[in-house]
Amino acid sequence: QLSELFFEREKGILIVISGPSCAGKGSVCKIICQKNPDLRLSISETTRKPRNYEKQGRDYFYVSKESFETRIEQGQYLEYATVYENYYGTPKDYVENLLESGYDVILEIDIQGAAKVRSNFKEGIYIFIVPPSMQELRRRIEERGTESTEQMEMRLNCAYEEMRNADDYSYIVINDDLEDAARRVQSIITAEKCRTERL
Ligand code: 5GP
Repeated sequence: QLSELFFEREKGILIVISGPSCAGKGSVCKIICQKNPDLRLSISETTRKPRNYEKQGRDYFYVSKESFETRIEQGQYLEYATVYENYYGTPKDYVENLLESGYDVILEIDIQGAAKVRSNFKEGIYIFIVPPSMQELRRRIEERGTESTEQMEMRLNCAYEEMRNADDYSYIVINDDLEDAARRVQSIITAEKCRTERL
């Protein structure tokens, strides 16, 4: 078996990263993708409106509610969920093709989506990123300032709910310093890829 490892291109590994809004998941994912040529970030589709610094096809594919619902019916999502009153979904073919081609793929998705993915990808790596405190989370959400007061409160309330579900994840990384958190996520992925049961 070990010899096969040297000659056959292995199927990629699925890495799922969740955590409350503004925990820093996106920034951590960006850093580790820059450092790993074999790692790809899945770009989700959403019915949320783009923030002014976001770009179509880079941060998300922004789609209408109608087209999202059509794609649900066609079974085109690996998982999808309603988060903060909008649809978010992971494109199935895109992720499966990358995994088949040997790329590791990161999904940055909420806890509902992660629970659905877990039932099909038990061998995935599940990482939960948290802020150092709820006060810091509130500060980051307010500082980003991309949501209305009502939306910010909803995101903070959801954060409490999400934190209660963190036990379902194999790893929890506290993001008190971005570079340090990215290093810890990188170490988790590196260690996981060396596990004997993956050979
Ligand atoms: P935001 O609106 O801040 O970009 O994202 C809101 C939440 O939706 C975050 O927790 C993010 O991880 C989650 N999310 C983004 N894409 C997906 C997806 O494809 N599926 C699911 N289930 N959640 C997603």
